Amino acid sequence: MSIVITGAASGIGRAVAELAARPGAELVLADRDAARLDETAELVRARGARALPLVVDLATPEAADEIVAAAAEEYGAIAAVVSNAGLIVGAPLAEMSADSFDLSFAVNARATWLLGRAAYPLLKRSRGALVATASMAATHPTPGTGAYSASKAAVVMLVKQMALEWGPDGIRCNTVSPGPTLSGMTKDVFADLESFEQRANREAREAHIPLRRVGTAEDVARAVLFLAGDDARHITGVDLMVDGGLSTALMPAV
Ligand code: NAD
Repeated sequence: MSIVITGAASGIGRAVAELAARPGAELVLADRDAARLDETAELVRARGARALPLVVDLATPEAADEIVAAAAEEYGAIAAVVSNAGLIVGAPLAEMSADSFDLSFAVNARATWLLGRAAYPLLKRSRGALVATASMAATHPTPGTGAYSASKAAVVMLVKQMALEWGPDGIRCNTVSPGPTLSGMTKDVFADLESFEQRANREAREAHIPLRRVGTAEDVARAVLFLAGDDARHITGVDLMVDGGLSTALMPAV
């Protein structure tokens, strides 16, 4: 039975694909970045798993149906959906355009609902799971990311709603909420330790994180696969913070 992973070309989505890849595993890898998606497919196949790469734009409402139809045709069944593709359209609310707002909600929030809706009959048959990548931003706003934060809050609530409505069908639905994580999304912010500015950025963040490091994509992927699998068989409707404790750290470190 297959696992569908969106945003599989980079960062957390690629890490989920790599961790899930073992002989016999069947993965559906969806992203809009064709070249990097092929790289993920090669990494997965090198570990003995099957990979079906799909180039889609999740800003369009048709993408979810395309992904689920392709997964059903190739593998017949879906055990888990990982709705992970996302983007930050960064702008202060006073300056942001309506198009930027709509794009944030289309990719981050609407696509998660549409993917869940499209996969529902197959998840019901498999008594499967949906895991979506929300964000610490869903509960902790930061300047300049208003539409992102609001769209991630929508992801958390949509998935809780799915848990409520689809629990009687045996489908579990949960979110993970990463804190600052090394990935494509943050590569220009704090990944490059050769850059003085990025290094300072990273140290400033790490000083506030109780575990004193920013997360890796694999840190988040482990939580995603825990929630997607049978070890979490009685867990549904939760938002799991994967943030090194940052969301509990109201007071600056001394
Ligand atoms: P990333 O940029 O490395 O990966 C995101 C992937 O989503 C990319 O491969 C990108 O091509 C794909 N994508 C974006 N828009 C798409 C679209 N319209 N159609 C298809 N694919 C699209 O970043 P990441 O950190 O791995 O992001 C994964 C998820 O984690 C996102 O939902 C993000 O909001 C969330 N997140 C990341 C952090 C962080 O610090 N990196 C923190 C909290 C939450």
